[in-house]
Amino acid sequence: MLLYNSLTRNRDEFVPNEPGKVKMYTCGPTVYHFAHIGNLRTYIMEDVLEKYLRYSGYDVKRVMNITDVGHLTSDADEGEDKMLKGAKREHKTVMEIAQFYTDAFFADCDKLNIKKPDVIEPATGCIDDFIRVIEGLLEKGFAYVAGGNVYFDTSKLENYYVFNNFKEEDLEVGVRDGVEADDNKKNKNDFVLWFTKSKFEDQALKWDSPWGVGYPGWHIECSCISMKHLGEDLDIHCGGIDNAFPHHTNEIAQSEAYLGHKWCNYWFHVLHLNTNSGKMSKSTGEFLTVSLLESKGYDPMVYRLFCLQSHYRKNLVFSYENLDNAKTSYQKLIARIATLREDGEVEAEAFETLRKDFTDAMDNDVNTSLAVTALYNVLKAKCSDATKRALLADFDRVLSLNRIETADAIRKAEQDKAAAAAAQEAAAHAGDPEAQEIEALIAARADAKKQKNFAEADRIRAELADRGITLIDTAQGTKWERN
Ligand code: AMP
Ligand code: ZN
Repeated sequence: MLLYNSLTRNRDEFVPNEPGKVKMYTCGPTVYHFAHIGNLRTYIMEDVLEKYLRYSGYDVKRVMNITDVGHLTSDADEGEDKMLKGAKREHKTVMEIAQFYTDAFFADCDKLNIKKPDVIEPATGCIDDFIRVIEGLLEKGFAYVAGGNVYFDTSKLENYYVFNNFKEEDLEVGVRDGVEADDNKKNKNDFVLWFTKSKFEDQALKWDSPWGVGYPGWHIECSCISMKHLGEDLDIHCGGIDNAFPHHTNEIAQSEAYLGHKWCNYWFHVLHLNTNSGKMSKSTGEFLTVSLLESKGYDPMVYRLFCLQSHYRKNLVFSYENLDNAKTSYQKLIARIATLREDGEVEAEAFETLRKDFTDAMDNDVNTSLAVTALYNVLKAKCSDATKRALLADFDRVLSLNRIETADAIRKAEQDKAAAAAAQEAAAHAGDPEAQEIEALIAARADAKKQKNFAEADRIRAELADRGITLIDTAQGTKWERN
């Protein structure tokens, strides 16, 4: 499988450290507000990657943090703690806010068929781990204490900007009007590992540490939570592209300085969902959530398909017009699947050939848009309906679009309607003993077909034909008439 790796800026063959096993880490949400559908694009694509690795036979262990402390309004060390901002906004405690938005996040994930990671770890549960690693960094000379805070010293590294050769002005990241830069830093990009001298005296969550009462920086959370559950060697680290700098750059700096060796081999970054006016964010513009889309009549699966139709390494522009196109595609797809018959045999050769189109697409840097094309090709292919249904179910182990379930539900609703119509017809024939007998034979024939006893079904049809009764199979069930 080829996977684009931000570290090498190349599509690399994916080879995990340990054959057959994948250790995967995902930056989780900062739980001060609902996730917007941009955040969820990243989680959908990570979900597809995880599921495809499992589909390919790997035993995957995936870990995700929940950022419930330390993430400031700028991704660097300036601004206010996002959690505190959320708590003030809603007149609640930080922990109440964290619990509420963590639950809301996983509820959204459920709606979008995003699987829960194997381990979910809130940062506030790992304070001792952070302190231990920060002590290690101080001992090794990679960190210093200044003005009460502990900082990572980026000048101690030969190559700090691992993902790119950033220009100095780009490193002003997150420093906005009204936010002062931190004079304690020896180098511009040094970052805080532990805050004790908070600019916000009302910081709600604080813990004792060797450097005084305070709280951890955001970046140290992910390094420590990953090492705690996945050990010293990580295969894949995921996140949205905005996380590449400074967050992931800092994670690599501190993890490798602490461990003394390379930490993670593959960096998987999902590009942004943008609106026509720019990057989607929680602080500007219309706040687009899954619930908002639902309230406007969009099934969350439509949004999932919308994301899968484009490659994760391309920016994706959200508009209701684009989403409407995905909605139409999804409805057509389901309607077509609902017409597939459940009986018949799976043709092994056709199955393998069509499956290969799907795996080729996915092996090619998770090309979900080609994988969706492979799905359409299944519906057009000349093979049995049983083969098609088997392929759709197989692809859905990765794409998770619920196609067969939704199509079956639609078909069942139609069948129920047909059964009600048949019952009405039976009532109309109530005074006609022959009609009742015919209805009973039609029901027996339907049962025989369900049990794939086509010989018996044909026998009943022939028996009725001999009696001058013609059967007409319709989408609403079997009707009959006397010749
Ligand atoms: P946050 O909750 O802000 O920590 O972000 C959660 C995840 O969403 C991170 O992996 C971000 O990189 C990602 N993300 C943020 N904004 C967008 C966006 N507009 N499109 C796609 N992913 C995003
Ligand atoms: Zn992270």
